[in-house]
Amino acid sequence: MGLFKGLISPIQKRILDHKMCPACTRSLDNQDNRQPITTEMEMVFCECGRAYVYSRLLRKYRRALPQEVQATTTRTVRFY
Ligand SMILES: [Zn+2]
Repeated sequence: MGLFKGLISPIQKRILDHKMCPACTRSLDNQDNRQPITTEMEMVFCECGRAYVYSRLLRKYRRALPQEVQATTTRTVRFY
């Protein structure tokens, strides 16, 4: 009970593995709204408003943590 609350579901993870936004199925590789976090990671904002972290090393996307979104959006206000 509550095990998956706040966590990404296995289905959503599979969609993400295909580099697609689980919420709107847009291709995340096609999203232009990207901000570097480190030399290896970048935050990618989907057109539907969700944020993801892309690892250049793993070539994979994951959901961005709320604190990561906040840290990025406070640096760059133009997204909201
Ligand atoms: Zn989306």
